[in-house]
Amino acid sequence: MQKLEELYAGKAKSVYRTEDSRFLVIEFRNDTSAFDGVKKAKLDRKGEVNNKFNAFIMRRLAEQGVPVHFVELKSATESIVKSLNMIPVECVVRNVAAGSLCKRLGIQEGLELNPPTFELFLKNDDLHDPMINEYHALSFGWATAEQLAKMESLTFQVNAILKKMFADAGMTLVDYKLEFGEFEGEVVLGDEFSPDGCRIWDAATGEKMDKDRFRQDLGNVIEYYQEVGMRLGVDFN
Ligand code: ADP
Ligand code: UDP
Repeated sequence: MQKLEELYAGKAKSVYRTEDSRFLVIEFRNDTSAFDGVKKAKLDRKGEVNNKFNAFIMRRLAEQGVPVHFVELKSATESIVKSLNMIPVECVVRNVAAGSLCKRLGIQEGLELNPPTFELFLKNDDLHDPMINEYHALSFGWATAEQLAKMESLTFQVNAILKKMFADAGMTLVDYKLEFGEFEGEVVLGDEFSPDGCRIWDAATGEKMDKDRFRQDLGNVIEYYQEVGMRLGVDFN
């Protein structure tokens, strides 16, 4: 499939049209950002590592029946995906307390959450992705009741699969963000699953292995992303 003109350049990925309107090319760039784009950097090999990491996870989810946008790898840094009508609501699951949850509710980082929590955020950089509830999504037309129900059930299906996959590889999947969209009437998992959008701790030492290494200047960001992938079985060659 041919990569035609750029449709959108986000903070970390660029989206291109193809000759078939049902599909897009997503390019994973080396750009990284945190705190709503305030902290920015280019990290060598990040695009390639996240593209291959995401492909591995999306394939594993698809094998277990999760509808995903990923079609195939196009190059080291590009994937062909289904063109989704994105739903501007981010779904966050938390297995362990960390990040904004701790700040908002005064919870100790590391508290195991049983059952895991499920939160919705509006995807809007200008408003700093505010937390919303289902009624906001319905009243303002950001998602339908059917879409919300599907997004929640798919997010927990993903959690059951990935929590075990990470635990079996000696890691704790602390929390993560998913984005969904519609493709031919079906709610489909879009965007990416990579250490950029989740928190992963080493199960034995508690060491942070995700984007918090960039946020908190812990160093070796991409080395850790690659270590997470290698433990899961991602082929980075
Ligand atoms: P951001 O927009 O948050 O800066 P990115 O740099 O990751 O994020 O840009 C990727 C953009 O592509 C996001 O806005 C995301 O919602 C969108 N996107 C992801 N997957 C698809 C898809 N399959 N179809 C259409 N848009 C998508
Ligand atoms: N997250 C993300 N993009 C966002 C917001 C959150 O990928 O725009 C991820 C984040 O990496 C973490 C989880 O969602 O794994 C929960 O994030 P949180 O609400 O704790 O916010 P943060 O502490 O990252 O500001």
